[in-house]
Amino acid sequence: MDSAKNDMILLDGIAASPGIAVGRLRVFDRHLLSVEEYNVARKDVCAEIDRLRQAITRTSDELNALKEQLQESTGEEHLFFIDTHLLILSDERLFAETAANIEAGLINAEGALRRTLHRYRDFFAAIEDAYLRERVSDVETVIEKILRNMVGEPHKPIIPDDGHTIVAAHDISPADILLMDRSRVIGLVTEVGGRTSHASILARAFELPTVAGVDGIADMQRDGAAVILDGLSGRIIINPDKETFVDYHKRKQHYQYVESELLKMAELPAETLDGHRISLKGNVEIPEEAALVVRHGGEGVGLYRTEMLFMNRPEMPDEDEQFRVYATMQQAIAPHPLTIRTLDSGGDKLLNGFSSATELNPALGVRAIRLSLTMPDEFKKQLRAILRVSALGKVRIMFPMISGLEELRHARALLEEARQELDAAGVPYDPAIPVGIMIEIPSAVTMAELLAREADFFSVGTNDLIQYILAIDRSNEHLASMYQPLHPAVLRSLQRVVEVAHGAGIEACICGEMAGDPLFLPVLLGLGFDELSMGTGSLTRVKQILRRCTQEQAAAVARRCLEFATAAEVDSYLKCAITSNFAESFD
Ligand code: PEP
Ligand code: MG
Repeated sequence: MDSAKNDMILLDGIAASPGIAVGRLRVFDRHLLSVEEYNVARKDVCAEIDRLRQAITRTSDELNALKEQLQESTGEEHLFFIDTHLLILSDERLFAETAANIEAGLINAEGALRRTLHRYRDFFAAIEDAYLRERVSDVETVIEKILRNMVGEPHKPIIPDDGHTIVAAHDISPADILLMDRSRVIGLVTEVGGRTSHASILARAFELPTVAGVDGIADMQRDGAAVILDGLSGRIIINPDKETFVDYHKRKQHYQYVESELLKMAELPAETLDGHRISLKGNVEIPEEAALVVRHGGEGVGLYRTEMLFMNRPEMPDEDEQFRVYATMQQAIAPHPLTIRTLDSGGDKLLNGFSSATELNPALGVRAIRLSLTMPDEFKKQLRAILRVSALGKVRIMFPMISGLEELRHARALLEEARQELDAAGVPYDPAIPVGIMIEIPSAVTMAELLAREADFFSVGTNDLIQYILAIDRSNEHLASMYQPLHPAVLRSLQRVVEVAHGAGIEACICGEMAGDPLFLPVLLGLGFDELSMGTGSLTRVKQILRRCTQEQAAAVARRCLEFATAAEVDSYLKCAITSNFAESFD
């Protein structure tokens, strides 16, 4: 994609962490080690397996030492990825499969480990969910470390030279980010990774503009070149011409100005002009993100997706491990409340570990609460861990994908057992812990009155609710234009959920992506939602618009939206209403 014009090179990748950086490219050699596969004699098989075992042990020692080193300089919440890597290392199957490759193929340990990596890559590539798919980067990092230990070639540390360094590399691990002198780095660009890889999550937590997935950046021999990194659009411009340079300089200033203006919002209450308050909260997946929620003025976490803790491992995390991670999250967000959603994951991705078995229709398969109810002992471990964290501060439990009363009652019965088990052991928890449900299946909307009697709050998962109401796969790019949040059927469902919740005296929240889109704010506010939980990046912008309208105005907008027959009509009305009422907020 080189469009060479005066040697200016444009490269497109994935916008992994927002912001614009203008500086110098420093390319670091973080290439995957190239290892050769060769045959070994049968008598040498044991020695090769031994080398493998030793390299795994050394890698594990290294990671533990790194953890200790970082514990002193970095918050506990940033060390989560090392635990993930240690868990992958301790997976006996990684060892067993590689040892079997050595034995069956009569090949060296390095070659055998590469084969194992390729199999993992194929397995992850077949996963539909982008977030889970990107977990492969953790496996790659770990295998690379083992390989480097085998051949005795450790990675050199990344040492940026001045305050204008944009670090480029084939891959950058979370440890690289934590260990580098971040005061000298203004951006990151990598050939691999995606928005939800660990390194990108960390880059966002440190507000380092990042573009991932830029093919060939590490091989272009452009070390020292002037470069523009646009983490908003995912573009890299090497050797920008004067016009481009001036243009991006302005864009950068504008972005920084808007961001700093928006950050002023963080301190202000989430309140309309006529004094109506709602709660704006953040959605998080790993403890690193809690600090960002607080910095952007979020009043707690409305959705903590716990899936991350269950991935990339042969066994479920035990109760104590879950307790530790949830407690780290709770402490990072305290004194605000933390809403912990119980496991929302598909059966094949989780229980079969790395097997490639898939369900024919995973979105309608054994996922979320259905999965938890099939394994009550594991589910109770999670419930006990959450209950224990509730003794430390404000915590809410939330069950995903509840389709009707039976599931809710079943889940609550197991929660009751978990409480009794803690009581018997004399372990403290908050006896009044709120227990809510996600409304993301149409049957839950229909049954809302009955569900509201037995739930302490509702939180609408619009991502799934829209997919199930409209029968549009949320991740199918060919149907993207039919995935319509403003479809009258969706709006009526939202209206119903709020009315029923309020009729029953419980809170109506939203934690799907709709909550973070400024365009939808007047509608959701007007419908009467009490809480909106969103990606951290949206918090200040949504609050800005909230603070510029009145509840009365928003209610009128929502009423009008409900009168239209098609999503297109609602959309054009809303854009018009927004332009005339809140134009400056949408600059
Ligand atoms: C949703 O479905 O809107 C939701 C928040 O849950 P997830 O995106 O994790 O399925
Ligand atoms: Mg969902």
